[in-house]
Amino acid sequence: MTDLTPLGAALRTALDGRWAHVRQDARERLTAEEFMPDPTLDMEAHRSRTFDQMRRLAETGQPREGFPVEYGGKDDVGGSVTAFEMLAHGDLSLLVKAGVHWGLFGGAVANLGTQRHHEQYLDAIISFDLPGCFAMTEVGHGSDVQSLRTTATFDAATDELVVHTPDPSATKTYIGGAARDGRLAVVFAQLVTGGRSHGVHAVLVPIRDESGRACPGVTIGDCGAKAGLAGVDNGTLAFDHVRVPREALLNRFGDVAQDGSYSSPIEDPSRRFFTMLGTLVRGRVSVAGAAGSATKTALAIALRYAVQRRQFAAPGSDEEVVLLDYRTHQRKLLPALATTYALHFAQGELVSALHDVQTATEPDERAQRELESRAAGIKALTTWHATATIQACREACGGAGYMWENRLPMLKADTDVFTTFEGDNTVLLQLVAKGLLTGYRDEFGQMDTLGMVRFATRQFAGAVAERTVAGALVQRLVDAAARRDEAVLLDRGEQLRLFEDREAHVLDGLARRLRAAGSAPGEAFAAFNDAQDHLLLAARVHIERIVLEAFVAGIDACEDDAAAALLDRVCDLHVLATVERDKGWFLEHGRLTPARAKAVTAQVNRLCAELRPHALTLVEGFGIPHEWLRASIADPRVAP
Ligand SMILES: Cc1cc2nc3c(=O)[nH]c(=O)nc-3n(C[C@H](O)[C@H](O)[C@H](O)COP(=O)(O)OP(=O)(O)OC[C@H]3O[C@@H](n4cnc5c(N)ncnc54)[C@H](O)[C@@H]3O)c2cc1C
Repeated sequence: MTDLTPLGAALRTALDGRWAHVRQDARERLTAEEFMPDPTLDMEAHRSRTFDQMRRLAETGQPREGFPVEYGGKDDVGGSVTAFEMLAHGDLSLLVKAGVHWGLFGGAVANLGTQRHHEQYLDAIISFDLPGCFAMTEVGHGSDVQSLRTTATFDAATDELVVHTPDPSATKTYIGGAARDGRLAVVFAQLVTGGRSHGVHAVLVPIRDESGRACPGVTIGDCGAKAGLAGVDNGTLAFDHVRVPREALLNRFGDVAQDGSYSSPIEDPSRRFFTMLGTLVRGRVSVAGAAGSATKTALAIALRYAVQRRQFAAPGSDEEVVLLDYRTHQRKLLPALATTYALHFAQGELVSALHDVQTATEPDERAQRELESRAAGIKALTTWHATATIQACREACGGAGYMWENRLPMLKADTDVFTTFEGDNTVLLQLVAKGLLTGYRDEFGQMDTLGMVRFATRQFAGAVAERTVAGALVQRLVDAAARRDEAVLLDRGEQLRLFEDREAHVLDGLARRLRAAGSAPGEAFAAFNDAQDHLLLAARVHIERIVLEAFVAGIDACEDDAAAALLDRVCDLHVLATVERDKGWFLEHGRLTPARAKAVTAQVNRLCAELRPHALTLVEGFGIPHEWLRASIADPRVAP
């Protein structure tokens, strides 16, 4: 990695956080030749290269670290998610293939299976000798996973489960690894014993033999060309009464005995299913981290170009103006850069929470639900931020940004679907709102409209935002602001109070609205449906408050004074750009006077000008080795 300026290095230390050693290891291990994208490959060549990269990644031993100690791993949940985040600076096809195989497929075997599955499969999964798939989505049901139609029916006569696709709409689709490489699939199906359905469970089903031929009764299709991620072999799977031993059921949360009797530690089928899904939250956290890395890569390219490229001379001058000296150009990139910093700190908190919840000796149900809610919300905000920012970066580089050799088209194409897989963002934000309305008492993930409305009606008594990290610090800042006569927009306490107040108001209004609805099923659904925009707003502003708190805590933890001072300004820009975007709401609700609203815009401009000289230093803080950028327009020779 090229030498960093002292300030760039201090920022990088602040951003590297709890798993700094994992980030550093990745910087040294992931060579550009092996792991960075090659835009010249066609689909077949890209799939083949991705497969080879998976083998090499397995050889590094890194994928093992997130698995249990008994299987040679380190149980290092946070470390493995951070390593995944770093991998996302490279070829995103490799990242997604790795995420499907080790994260989703391996994660399902580890978390939904029991010792017999672990002993039989984990070693081969970790070494990538047994490539796998995670087959949940069907043609007819994507977001609504509880309504999947594939069945796994117990046959007592042979002690087997019969996995079947009853009609074309139950065909598994978009399944990563299905089209070319996958040999074993975790198939999500309605489990039926003695004529009774017990809800969706996961079953291990071989789909290909070692020579690559489809197993008897399994029909495999290829989704073919996609908008991006050409190196991932997404495909379809249909099953015609495929028989697997009863023991193929991943039975941690529900089991079938030899006599066909069903047992589960969780009585309610819906609760059981969402508990099962909850154990797979790591995938969602990982996608959020990956989206953050792709955003940073795009910003690094666009900002490096923006400090070199010149267009138009100012009147009376022979010298043409550098793009980043134009205010519009600053506005295109610098608020996005600031929000990328904010989301980075929020992601760090999320990964820490994930690690602590999943490695705790005693399970903490409420912490698990909060984690699932935050993972859903941060995944939604970060992936939306990625697509918007990468597009802005593409435009900021003009025609050069449209050339494959400059990386941005591939980043755009590959990250687009991050808003859809691992949970569609709109659906995820509805789940966040539900968690808020029900105080996380109910199982997370279930979209039971009627229950939610009834719950809001009975229980909800004013929205009091619970602080996340650094609660005492946030309170101190808020109190200090409250003591001031005139609140100013650059006061951190005032900013925190503004975000808290907005969240409380939106949530309170939502609860009142739902409470006003009747609780008959039809009425409740109509009220809920009518309030969906409100629901999404509540979720977004809640997550934005959490993100701000994480940023504040990150600055507080920064040990270098100059870096902390710079981060302070970046945080201001993030906050004021957010307020500017939501000016309509703040004005409508009397939170900003028109004069103050105008001042916000002026302040965003001022902060852009103030941060402009630091743009490349802030890029340095991302800690991306220059060789990883792979864009000819991102010339490293230009000094910050
Ligand atoms: C490249 C790629 C790879 C994938 N890999 C895998 C894989 O390996 N394994 C796997 O199992 N799946 C995989 N998927 C599937 C992915 O998880 C689903 O696409 C996703 O869950 C969304 O489902 P859907 O496509 O059916 O969309 P839908 O659920 O049909 O959603 C379509 C639209 O309707 C909206 N919508 C849906 N429900 C509501 C609601 N209640 N209220 C308001 N709006 C709503 C959504 O916001 C969205 O805009 C992959 C998908 C892609 C594209």
